[in-house]
Amino acid sequence: MPSKPPIASHSHALPSYLDPQHLGPWGIYLQQVDRVTPYLGSLARWVETLKRPKRALIVDVPIEMDDGTIAHFEGYRVQHNTSRGPGKGGVRFHQDVTLSEVMALSAWMSIKNAAVNVPYGGAKGGIRVDPKKLSRSELERLTRRYTSEIGIIIGPTKDIPAPDVNTNGQVMAWMMDTYSMNVGETSTGVVTGKPVDLGGSLGRIEATGRGVFTVGVEAAKHTGMPIEGARVAVQGFGNVGGTAGRLFAEAGAKVVAVQDHTGSIHNDAGLDVPALLAHVQETGGVAGFAGADQMQDAEFWSVPCDILIPAALEGQITAENAGRIQAKLVIEGANGPTTPEADDILHDNGVLVLPDVISNAGGVTVSYFEWVQDFTSFFWTEDEINDRLVRIMQNAFAGIWQVAQDNGVSLRTATFIVACKRILHAREMRGLYP
Ligand code: GLU
Repeated sequence: MPSKPPIASHSHALPSYLDPQHLGPWGIYLQQVDRVTPYLGSLARWVETLKRPKRALIVDVPIEMDDGTIAHFEGYRVQHNTSRGPGKGGVRFHQDVTLSEVMALSAWMSIKNAAVNVPYGGAKGGIRVDPKKLSRSELERLTRRYTSEIGIIIGPTKDIPAPDVNTNGQVMAWMMDTYSMNVGETSTGVVTGKPVDLGGSLGRIEATGRGVFTVGVEAAKHTGMPIEGARVAVQGFGNVGGTAGRLFAEAGAKVVAVQDHTGSIHNDAGLDVPALLAHVQETGGVAGFAGADQMQDAEFWSVPCDILIPAALEGQITAENAGRIQAKLVIEGANGPTTPEADDILHDNGVLVLPDVISNAGGVTVSYFEWVQDFTSFFWTEDEINDRLVRIMQNAFAGIWQVAQDNGVSLRTATFIVACKRILHAREMRGLYP
């Protein structure tokens, strides 16, 4: 381990706008930064930069409901860091969204973008709303008003939103249109994850799941685990978990258990993944799928399997359930699914964790391709996109694997070492203004 870094004087890492007793996901992120600091050498001088967001915008989003009443929702857009390029990261609509959560998600975007070396900083947005309770036109009004409110800080060269939990291509189309109306020109590059007919990219919808699969295969190669016949459990069967599950099944693995917000299902012989995807499409969840046994949600974590893919929300693998996990490999499709205590338990039990900040970076990587295609107005084939995606993910994974070996650290800390060095090196070269 390198000698101890200088402790920054004048550091007040905790902002007064977060309750120090309830730091939430931001507190987890701060612990991850503390773990990496001893490996940053002279760049540790700049580490405080990572412990506060560059800019956090809180907006009120009022809309008229279909029944004529007026409802107000909390909206956020946080730009954690822009040292390496414009802010980049998704927008989530969820009833539990908080400032702490959006701050942490924006910071994880900075790390992720630097880890795969796409020329972006990190940002994230969210609205504290349960979108399932809104009609389509209420959702459209909410999206448009939110976009107008954050319009003062987003833009194709400033900060580029994308889909995240409960947002999709239609929401991106409304965001693109609202921003374009406000600036007086069609600006496709302001968001990514758009429908293909509006400047979206082929392969974007599947990109995150494809990235999860790609790093999973690489890790399996390094650890000598055959994918053929591997037993896979997936939490969350939407865009990310559904695609990853399908790709693993196509590669000969057996998806034996799936959990989502509707319930948990199990089939030791392997689920029929295409049939399950069709069932989810039709009914909105895995519950009631004919080709499986239903099981208690708590039992999901102890299912005998080789690969576990948490692909839902953060804080799912905790000190309470980590010890029961049977998998040898955990691939984090979601952002922040494992708490630091659970990370340590998994490590002690010999479970290899592929961290979110590399595993789910396939989404933003193809977002980057989409943004480049929008700027040049020249669109690539799906094969070109998938080939480039796989190459970037494989190279990033190889580099991180090496750093983990060289330093004897977890893949999470290794990813943070690679990413934080890139961010802070850019920070140092740019220097402080004024
Ligand atoms: N929301 C996705 C993520 O967490 C994608 C972000 C993007 O494409 O900008 O990585």
